[in-house]
Amino acid sequence: MRQSVSPKPRSGVQLLMLGLMASLPGLQINHAALASGGGTVQEGWSPTDRYPSHEVYFPGTEELAPDEMRVLACGSGMPMPRTKQAAACFLIELGNGDKFVFDIGTGAFTTLYALGLPLDYMTKIFISHQHADHMGDLPTFWIYGMQNGRSKPLDVWGPGGGGMPESWGTKSAIDGILKFYDWMLETSKGGLDTRSLAINVYEFDWSKVNNVIYDENGVVIRTIPAVHLEGSVSFILEWKGLKLAFSGDTLANRWWTEYAKGADIAIHESFLPNE
Ligand SMILES: [Zn+2]
Repeated sequence: MRQSVSPKPRSGVQLLMLGLMASLPGLQINHAALASGGGTVQEGWSPTDRYPSHEVYFPGTEELAPDEMRVLACGSGMPMPRTKQAAACFLIELGNGDKFVFDIGTGAFTTLYALGLPLDYMTKIFISHQHADHMGDLPTFWIYGMQNGRSKPLDVWGPGGGGMPESWGTKSAIDGILKFYDWMLETSKGGLDTRSLAINVYEFDWSKVNNVIYDENGVVIRTIPAVHLEGSVSFILEWKGLKLAFSGDTLANRWWTEYAKGADIAIHESFLPNE
């Protein structure tokens, strides 16, 4: 895999961090910033053009090659919110135009929106489990679609079944979000574009191993159970020979070691306990 970002990407994978994040072993981290930079100004650099350093990523300025994957860490934080670090959220962008949001924890809406991507391009949301630091901004991301140009429903994949009560499933959670915003939904009708207000829920059995939950346009996404709490999964995305494994919250387990093997990028959740 490529370990750095160049202005003219070739094939491979880019991993970009938005906000603060601890480094991942074995990867060179390119700290993305919306308007940061630094360094001594060199001859030929413009005060109004984009910064030419590879150390800084400006969203929307680097076109993906047809066979390239870009992974943006839009949130990598702890459950307690911080001003500049959202909780878990990763945007996976593929050279074929597909985009996938893996988890959308508290604060992630701000980072996703700041990318400046049309919300119509970010309609596929995958939830690893229902802790707030993994799906806390789903209601916000969804409801503000109608005020920010999204014209399509959200598609949400999330765990359920596997012996859990029905009320613990993603479908039940989404029904709760709709109910929570009943007043806003009803009073918005007639005044705002409400095409974005539908949510299509694809609830899958969290207990299945190597379970295909998505297979479209050459992209396959599978789940394996995570060793966290009942109803938690890890995701494995494969496309054009590239493989990304996203752990969600999990302890090391035999499914991860078997099915995440050979991944170009393996994203591990980590937690720093209070000392
Ligand atoms: Zn969790």
